[in-house]
Amino acid sequence: MEKIIDISLPIDEKTVVYPGNPKVNIKTIYGKTSTYSEIKFGSHTATHIDVPKHVFKKGFGVDKIDLKKVIGECRVFDMTRVKESIKVEDLEKENIKKGERILVKTKNSLLGFKKFYDNYIYLDGDAAEFLAQKKISLFGIDYFSVKKRGGKDTRPHTELLKNGIVIFEGLDLSKAKAGKYFFIGLPLKFTNLDGSPARVILLKT
Ligand SMILES: [Zn+2]
Repeated sequence: MEKIIDISLPIDEKTVVYPGNPKVNIKTIYGKTSTYSEIKFGSHTATHIDVPKHVFKKGFGVDKIDLKKVIGECRVFDMTRVKESIKVEDLEKENIKKGERILVKTKNSLLGFKKFYDNYIYLDGDAAEFLAQKKISLFGIDYFSVKKRGGKDTRPHTELLKNGIVIFEGLDLSKAKAGKYFFIGLPLKFTNLDGSPARVILLKT
């Protein structure tokens, strides 16, 4: 039996959101025979997927992602010693191949997700170009954005998304060691939306 590592963040009213994004708001209605809830949340809440529509007005939405990209083998890299950002030299030594799904575990996972901080580890613009040239199929990072907070260099989003690379943000990799896993990350099927929370798990055989 495979071991399941849940790398998704919980969603509730305490969930930390990227500054400027809507906070999670849940109103539960108790009826006579059943209970249901009205939920308000941003499309980039907690563990979520970014699709081309997020940065390109005419880009496709979350319902159009290639499901083959979000299910399959992946590698988790231990980058917990990286300072500031993931750079080309950090990725070069990993022998990355075409079509790979790559997740980076940084010190963000060690710091946790209970409060927002500005100086999280992000993906450098040149490194995003490097990954695009390698033609990987998926990139995941353990904070709420791939891009530097307030950074002018938009390549971490644009280089990946325009080259068909699916982005996952807000992954909690604290329980995942470096290595190979089977990745499953399924966002909700919102029509033509710029992103969606997703339940993401790693299977270890
Ligand atoms: Zn996002």
